[in-house]
Amino acid sequence: MNGNVLIIEDEEAIINVLASILIANEYIPVIAKNGGQALTMLRSFQPDVILLDLGLPDMDGIDILKKVKESHNCPVLVVSARDKEWEKVEALDLGADDYITKPFGTSELLARIRVALRNRSDGEEKSASEKGIYCCGKLRVDLEKHVVTLDNERVHLTKNELRIMELLSRNPGKVLTYDYLIKNIWGADMPENNRILRVNMANIRRKLEENPAEPKYIITEIGVGYRLADESYF
Ligand code: CA
Repeated sequence: MNGNVLIIEDEEAIINVLASILIANEYIPVIAKNGGQALTMLRSFQPDVILLDLGLPDMDGIDILKKVKESHNCPVLVVSARDKEWEKVEALDLGADDYITKPFGTSELLARIRVALRNRSDGEEKSASEKGIYCCGKLRVDLEKHVVTLDNERVHLTKNELRIMELLSRNPGKVLTYDYLIKNIWGADMPENNRILRVNMANIRRKLEENPAEPKYIITEIGVGYRLADESYF
């Protein structure tokens, strides 16, 4: 078995889709249909991953997220509607590990769960930052030597471009918010930083992507941030 998944969701149709995908892929799902049940199950059922709907009948899902992050070392994937970017950003800033957008595909769901499990501190599979090297397709980032290569040829990046690539490479497959990237690269928030980040990203893509208009390595999550492709679904 691949792990225990706690589904916190009140919508029957979504529960059914999630549960059948999980069972077919050898995960054990347990379902909580409201916040009260979820809090009880957090104690009785040791989940490896939590899928959390933020719109619950009795509680704000954000409060459950806060409780989980206070007391359990368990990854949380938020299940969110397409048009609620602010909600995703808020959840990520409060410690959610990632999100999936309804309606989601099977491969997307499984990829997000795999990444979340891998990034757990006690995960058996070593993360890119522990190995010191990120590899995906023709792209390779050596985090110790600070070298990025594409098809074995060195890519010349500016200092900030390199720092952005290293941040992304430490978290392959995981979305990093604009704010997170900006704070880590430029420090305090400044009004022009979103634009500066976009310019840097456009330059990186010009150097890395075969077709910068349809990037394969650095994926834009509109209104949220960027995600570096993960080998497992490349
Ligand atoms: Ca709901």
